[in-house]
Amino acid sequence: LVTSAGTFYYITQKDRHPGVQLPHDPSKKTLVILGSGWGATSLLKSIDTEAFNVTVISPKNFFLFTPLLPSVAVGTVAGRSIIQPTRFITRHKKRRVAVVEAEAEEIDPFAKTVTFTDTSAVKGEVATKTINYDYLVCAVGAETQTFNIPGIQEHAVFMKELNDAIKFQDRVIDCIETAAFPGQTEEEIRRLLHVVVVGGGPTGVEVSGELHDFLHDDLSNWYPELAPKMRITLIEALPSVLPMFSKELIAYTESTFKQEKINIMTNTMVKEVRDKSVLVRTPDGKDDEVPCGLLVWAGGNKPRKLTTDLMGKLGKEKQNNKRGLVADDHLIVAGAPDNSIYALGDCASTPYAPTAQVASQQGAYLARVFNKLGKRDLLATELDTVKGELEKMKAESGVDFEKDPELKNKVTVAERAVEDMGKVRPFHYSHQGSLAYIGSDKAIADINFWQRKFASAGVMTYVFWRSAYLSTLFSLRNRTLVATDWLKVKLFGR
Ligand code: NAD
Repeated sequence: LVTSAGTFYYITQKDRHPGVQLPHDPSKKTLVILGSGWGATSLLKSIDTEAFNVTVISPKNFFLFTPLLPSVAVGTVAGRSIIQPTRFITRHKKRRVAVVEAEAEEIDPFAKTVTFTDTSAVKGEVATKTINYDYLVCAVGAETQTFNIPGIQEHAVFMKELNDAIKFQDRVIDCIETAAFPGQTEEEIRRLLHVVVVGGGPTGVEVSGELHDFLHDDLSNWYPELAPKMRITLIEALPSVLPMFSKELIAYTESTFKQEKINIMTNTMVKEVRDKSVLVRTPDGKDDEVPCGLLVWAGGNKPRKLTTDLMGKLGKEKQNNKRGLVADDHLIVAGAPDNSIYALGDCASTPYAPTAQVASQQGAYLARVFNKLGKRDLLATELDTVKGELEKMKAESGVDFEKDPELKNKVTVAERAVEDMGKVRPFHYSHQGSLAYIGSDKAIADINFWQRKFASAGVMTYVFWRSAYLSTLFSLRNRTLVATDWLKVKLFGR
């Protein structure tokens, strides 16, 4: 035990105090990375920064492990356990990485500049700046799709950022405490205790499942007379929830939700969100007003303004997909000059679903691309130096290397090596499967293993879900914190 604790302590302390970094070097190319989510962080983790001056620009100065966000919303896991400050990652790099907490507002793909603004509450004298780049990686993700449905922005809670999960937690407790206020009518209590989740994708399903656990494990003890009156309704416009999962897993989720008393309304379209209710179009085409205390909106993704603006500048001919930036199989954005812009993750319209898994594999791929480009640039610089020396020799002593077949051959071989170094294989996605938590210590998983598909569900899948998430967390610190949170909930509740 003492040896393990000692080793653990040694690793954590080594991690906390990394060595001195090289400064930015004006002779190196500038790589600007926009974003600090799955794509950007996975790129940052594996890139060798020696060959570039890297700058990261993101409105959040941390990475958020989004799969556990619904767990934060109900207090199973603390918010700080699933964030990893971007500087924790960049300070381990050979060359210093500049991290700027700001929102990129404009990209000029032809002048190769990016303009960003400090959006934090505290403002200094300088709040907007424009910098040049040689390469730009656009990993800005997406925002929640609302289809301009009235009332969503004003009345709904989203489930995308850390603040959304915290807002959800506060609102759930507010609804229950207000319902507990003396003299509240029965009808008002029923309204306040009705949580509506819109969107039967994995986000909506996981929020519903986690909320059920919170209600069942904790709230029923704290508010014994109110808990039985609490209702959860999941609304989905399509005929079924979780269309990306196999049929048997959809059926398993539906039957588990039935046991958990989560009401699923499929073929039901939300048309308007009001202060105390939601207006829906029912399967028989009628409009119905459903009273509720809290509404969570998990209606999917749409591109951010920065992405659509950039697409506009690059031209409709090349950028013709509404989902996001059109990029080729090397993740190079169509229409950008000199292959200078790359796009990955949810802001790109590649043939893959907008998932964390895709973005992180694309980030790791781009790291390999840049590591190769860096080596190529280094080799090209060395070759230029040699060529310069040979030219100097020619001027001084009249020895022309072009006339020396052996020397000429050596230069040609080196030139080809530089060219080859720049060639990289296209991105290949390897789908590991899909996982989702559905409440009551049960999870569902469509797993690809040895090119075979497996569908699994239940408590063992939940154990698998936990270990899979624990191992995909980015750092030892995150893993330790999340595991401790799970233990704390088992011992003391939420
Ligand atoms: P989604 O796009 O998967 O689902 C949104 C759902 O909302 C859709 O089914 C849509 O029909 C429904 N909807 C939209 N407008 C509606 C309306 N007006 N009324 C009723 N229903 C409406 O969104 P998501 O769940 O946020 O997921 C986004 C992406 O992230 C997906 O690619 C998903 O696979 C991925 N993701 C995966 C996991 C996981 O694997 N565990 C977890 C979260 C997200």
